Amino acid sequence: MTATAMPERRARSGSAWSRLVANPLTVIGLFLLAVLGGLALAAPILPLANPDATSLSERLTPLFSPGAWLGTDHLGRDLLSRLIWGTRVSIAVGLAATLAAALIGSTIGLVAAFYGRWVDAVLMRTIDTLMAFPYLLLALAIVAALGPGLLNALMAIAVVNIPFFARAVRGQALAIKNQDYVAAARLSGFSDARIILTEILPNVLPVVIVTMSSTLSWMILETAGLSFLGLGAQPPTADLGSMLGDGRDLIHRAPMVALLPGLVILLLAIGINLVGDGVRDVLDPRLKSGALTRPAAATKRRLPPAPGTPEMDERLVLSVRNLSTFFEVGGRTLKAVHDVSFEVRRGEALGVVGESGSGKSVTALSLLGLVASPPGVITDGAIWFNDRQRGPMDLARLPVKELQQLRGSRIAYIFQDPLTALHPVLKVGFQVAETLVVHQGMGWADARREAVRLLDMVKLPTPAEKAHAYPHELSGGQRQRVMIAMALANRPDLIVADEPTTALDVTTQRRVLELLDELRREHDAALLFISHDFGVIADLCDRVQVMYAGEVVERAPSAELFRNPSHPYTRRLLDCVPSLTDDRKIEAIPGLPPAVDRLPPGCPFADRCEEAEAACREGTIALRQVSDRHAARCIHAPGAALAEAS
Ligand code: ADP
Ligand code: MG
Repeated sequence: MTATAMPERRARSGSAWSRLVANPLTVIGLFLLAVLGGLALAAPILPLANPDATSLSERLTPLFSPGAWLGTDHLGRDLLSRLIWGTRVSIAVGLAATLAAALIGSTIGLVAAFYGRWVDAVLMRTIDTLMAFPYLLLALAIVAALGPGLLNALMAIAVVNIPFFARAVRGQALAIKNQDYVAAARLSGFSDARIILTEILPNVLPVVIVTMSSTLSWMILETAGLSFLGLGAQPPTADLGSMLGDGRDLIHRAPMVALLPGLVILLLAIGINLVGDGVRDVLDPRLKSGALTRPAAATKRRLPPAPGTPEMDERLVLSVRNLSTFFEVGGRTLKAVHDVSFEVRRGEALGVVGESGSGKSVTALSLLGLVASPPGVITDGAIWFNDRQRGPMDLARLPVKELQQLRGSRIAYIFQDPLTALHPVLKVGFQVAETLVVHQGMGWADARREAVRLLDMVKLPTPAEKAHAYPHELSGGQRQRVMIAMALANRPDLIVADEPTTALDVTTQRRVLELLDELRREHDAALLFISHDFGVIADLCDRVQVMYAGEVVERAPSAELFRNPSHPYTRRLLDCVPSLTDDRKIEAIPGLPPAVDRLPPGCPFADRCEEAEAACREGTIALRQVSDRHAARCIHAPGAALAEAS
């Protein structure tokens, strides 16, 4: 590890700890464990009476007796001393059993997942057999066979817990085993043991730790249970369970003898569980951020009152006005998209360009309420969609049910990666047919025929055969054609394509783009086309808008924008487009876009702009009308400031 990486690592581990103690329940758990664990650890050096020394004259003394704060038991032994020593034994046994189960179970899981086939079959069927027995009964049977005793109880508890580790680890390892970096390690000739230890194990470790944190308290309880039944700790050694057992007969005469160990067991279990939950949250931040919870059916909205319905002529399909979509993460608000306005007309293609992170995808996803919530919230603006039958409707305020009906029927969405957007275990013909059945109520037989026709329309070779292929059996270009077929299946009025060809090679990209262009003209649909590639936009789009830090900074007909870019950012972006005909040097734009949770006042590009002056950093910069259909958000652009929402 390099010297510079060290502080960063320390900072990160520091932040894991601070996230752990930021959770008040975890702090309570840590406190409980620190007190109980600290006492147990310190037992040999504490001024405690001998826990096993009996004194028949001092039997069952009450709480706070001189010489025995917590009183004594039926043999006159000091309860405080026995409790602390007993806690020590219980924790030690629980920890040892957990470690043993984790070690053996994880090894079994790793080996079974890695070697698969008969190794997997033999190991996992053995594990299944273990799991087929009722859990405590099995532990009892093992102790009965081995004979009572703490060590035997420990082994029994460890054995019955092995399956939990084996199964959890195997499941995780199976997924990791097929990752490319594991294949790479294999190809570079690493030994099996090395691959398991360095490539797979680190990735399953969080699962092991989480499983340990949840089994540790069970194991302490189970050991206590066995000792309670007389099968664990044997006199004179005490653990919490055997103390509980001793107290059982005295519960009416001297309830403290049973209550005290019971209370310690309770506190121990609470402490371990609270800390375990905290550790789990820290190890898997997705749990806390809500990313693993089921996302809402549509992006959350927190909008001002509805504006009046605008006039929309027949050709106007989409009119977005002052749209703002923010992400609320932790205490921060990321202004991913703010105050964005634009229009798309029937038969027109509007291109959206900008660096990665400039808010292109969030703009597109907001239209259909597809931004994940949490953390996404649409906080302002209106999204007017001109429905053929119902006229203008505001998608930002449309009931979610109606929005869902528009998705995939009136408005189609083509995603960047068709492999993740297509269902991996359903045949592509079925997936195309399904959109027809769902949105048009078509019968399945008709839908299947129509699906083949659509696959033919997107120029998939041998469409009738390909309809029976699974997504992984198609090439990237073919998959994207399937996505386009699905998008066009219901003759949408608006097609949103978010970098649809980024995952494809240049020739395939060209063909897919030509197809998209041809089809949207044929269908007279409006196309919102997102790309980071000016070349692609130039070929395909009638108009372009450039986005930067969540804002539209320039908009013009394509030819005009390339001829006369009026925003310095656009000029810099255009300079980055490689050309085969001149040999000018390509220079990256210096600096980085501003963090969207701390946008500076004024122009967000000012810090990277050579032409920036003091006025650029003050107030909001309005779009200025450069020429008839050309606008730029720069104080140096010629022309008058424009009223927004044009
Ligand atoms: P792009 O222009 O590359 O498509 P995006 O629209 O995806 O950019 O992202 C715009 C901004 O929103 C980025 O700053 C990104 O960090 C932020 N963002 C996107 N998705 C999330 C999310 N789920 N949580 C927090 N921030 C997000
Ligand atoms: Mg994107």
